[in-house]
Amino acid sequence: MTQRYPGEPVDLPLDNWLYEAKPKANCPRCASEEVKLESAAKSGDAKARFEAARNIRQCPHSSAG
Ligand SMILES: [Zn+2]
Repeated sequence: MTQRYPGEPVDLPLDNWLYEAKPKANCPRCASEEVKLESAAKSGDAKARFEAARNIRQCPHSSAG
């Protein structure tokens, strides 16, 4: 039997995860998204920041050699 605990607070760092991105070195697409990410962070543009972070996460990391 699995017990459940309704109402238990769950502290997920979801907001941080949304903005988290790990650009890969030597990946031109990551580099360009990283620029967008930084300028969006400076200007406080949460939507652009989220989109740039998402683009980095979804990047296939095709290195240009
Ligand atoms: Zn990449």
